[in-house]
Amino acid sequence: MDPALQRHAEAARGFMPPDEGLALHDAALLVPDGGSPMLEIGSYCGKSAIYLGAAARARHTVLFALDHHRGSEENQPGWEWHEPDLVDPEVGRIDTLPRFRRTVHDAGLEPHVIALVGDSPTVGRHWRTPLALLFIDGGHGAEPAHRDYDTWVPWVEPGGLLLIHDVFPDPADGGRPPYELYLRALDSGSFAEERAVGSLRVLRRATRP
Ligand code: SAH
Ligand code: MG
Repeated sequence: MDPALQRHAEAARGFMPPDEGLALHDAALLVPDGGSPMLEIGSYCGKSAIYLGAAARARHTVLFALDHHRGSEENQPGWEWHEPDLVDPEVGRIDTLPRFRRTVHDAGLEPHVIALVGDSPTVGRHWRTPLALLFIDGGHGAEPAHRDYDTWVPWVEPGGLLLIHDVFPDPADGGRPPYELYLRALDSGSFAEERAVGSLRVLRRATRP
């Protein structure tokens, strides 16, 4: 990875350990040059978007970075992953969009990372574009996670990549839903695992059904 971009990614706020971020970047480099776009669900402050966006730049495509920027359940006040300074005091709600925008700007990736600000299933209902890569890292509750799978996985093109974050086979390490999505993908018979780094799983859709 471009060392300057790697420094930006590591300095950015968010939930992506360096080794998993690099694996994310390396997987994204496997998409066809000048092909279909990539999409991530769950951008938060833009950390994973730098790892993916750097690869989008290298492969002459773009990353759509989808988030309503109001935080997941686990980011709300009183929950484990709440960061109080991300609350907009006038609105009284989390707003990660300004931080996201700044992160992408400072990394020089604005031409390659396009923010989609909205609710994942609502945007998905109107989406019609095949994806070279889908990265699922949005709401981690059972309902939002499975809904993201239902909404977006059908858009992964033949030979395309499905990346899932926070996959923990051992319940002691974290919540179940991302692991359930991973099993769903494998059980569907359409995806084969290519790589596992930490809690990141890289799967590829078969070229023929
Ligand atoms: N990939 C990020 C971390 C994502 S945290 C990183 O590298 O740091 C999960 C994100 O999913 C939060 O920012 C939250 O706002 C978003 N999210 C949760 N449910 C969503 C939904 N229904 N629609 C859009 N975004 C959602
Ligand atoms: Mg995550």
